[in-house]
Amino acid sequence: MLVMKFGGTSVGKPERMKKIANLVTETPGQKIVVLSALSGTTNALVAIGDFLMKGEHVAAENEIANLEKHYLAFIEELYGTENFQAIGHEIVSRFFIFIRLLAAGQFDDKSYRELLAQGELMSTELFYQHLQERKINARLLPALHFMSIDENEEPELEKIAQRLKPLLTSLKQVDIIITQGYICRNYRNEIDNLKRGGSDYTASLIGSAILAEEIQIWTDIDGMHNNDPRIVKKTYPISELTFDEASELAYFGAKILHPSTIVPAQKYHVPVRLKNTMDEKAPGTLISDKETASVFKAVAAKDGITAIKIKSSRMLMAYGFLRKVFEIFEQYKTPIDMISTSEVAVSLTIDYTNHLEEILTELTKFGSVEVDKNQTIVCIVGHRIGNQAGVLDKIFSSLREIPIRMVSVGGSYNNISVLVDTRYKDQTLTALNEGIFHLA
Ligand code: ADP
Ligand code: ASP
Ligand code: MG
Repeated sequence: MLVMKFGGTSVGKPERMKKIANLVTETPGQKIVVLSALSGTTNALVAIGDFLMKGEHVAAENEIANLEKHYLAFIEELYGTENFQAIGHEIVSRFFIFIRLLAAGQFDDKSYRELLAQGELMSTELFYQHLQERKINARLLPALHFMSIDENEEPELEKIAQRLKPLLTSLKQVDIIITQGYICRNYRNEIDNLKRGGSDYTASLIGSAILAEEIQIWTDIDGMHNNDPRIVKKTYPISELTFDEASELAYFGAKILHPSTIVPAQKYHVPVRLKNTMDEKAPGTLISDKETASVFKAVAAKDGITAIKIKSSRMLMAYGFLRKVFEIFEQYKTPIDMISTSEVAVSLTIDYTNHLEEILTELTKFGSVEVDKNQTIVCIVGHRIGNQAGVLDKIFSSLREIPIRMVSVGGSYNNISVLVDTRYKDQTLTALNEGIFHLA
């Protein structure tokens, strides 16, 4: 069984939705098709939710009306027959009645999450009806029946697998099983989500739960590139990556993959293939256990990083000190990304800052604390890059004009990270493109 995930731009225009219908139909064997919301929809739902949270009902209604218009134009082009045009209208009108119902009531965090789920619920229903119109053997499998997260917002992979088993047994005769990316239930049984970009994660959770032959992530680019194509001019697709390499790139900012996508796939050794919906012949990127030898593979950047330095002359390197520091971050469920130590100070970085004030208050018990916001981690990934002669020389001579706040080497064999002020991010990525990939 294959899992095929199509992102927002892949379903964002009626002709693209028709194209992916062809693509999944022509692919042999049974497959689970995971869809995102149409491009722009989740952003619009976020905007509507933000207005409603602030009590700005008129602004929210304007956004809702615009979104509704977009969907009405979409179905007009998607369906060919009057009968299915009517079905399309019925679906859109049902969803927008519900969205307005959510907007009219007491709007809280729970309604907000329910609102965000409407994008994927709509796109899958519209796609399913398109296949119905073309008499293609397909079924909708609601993600809210099997996808769940626990108290710590971690996906419950075993439960997901257990729930999927009987569902898939009953769907043995169906070629195309359609489900929603991104959405799930939380431990309170409420509707929740896997965070922005989470449809990739849905695909890999399903693929790992059913031990799929392959998890395919179809998007608007021909695979993982060696650098961020939104920032540097010349980039190229990488044909193969190991799970470790891809995992570092996704976690450290390569937007093509949700940061956690690779984790379950790696655990269950299910290969992940990145493919381009706009150019299906392009080879894309295969992510698997197989190692390939090129030293520098790719760089990625993660913004919104806060660096914290704790300075204390007496207790710092005494044993037990780092444990106490880490315990504070653990208490506030705040992961640490980079760390570097000296005899008198320790610097570390976080990107989740909801509890920053509490953390800083606790840390001041140990010494003086300095905070730098608006930092960016630039992560350089490659095969055994962490322990090869000459690698650091190449990186640092490329970055000779950039002030570097922190460096991390030796944490893993395939990643070297540097922390720079976000003002230098574009310059850093460009300098690395020239210095290590020789792309001027
Ligand atoms: P989807 O809507 O299909 O999930 P995304 O917009 O989330 O698509 O991800 C695809 C985009 O990721 C590309 O259009 C590209 O601009 C961006 N991107 C950032 N870094 C990389 C990279 N290293 N390789 C490929 N794409 C990247
Ligand atoms: N629709 C969601 C988002 O825009 C999930 C996804 O597209 O992966 O974040
Ligand atoms: Mg995405």
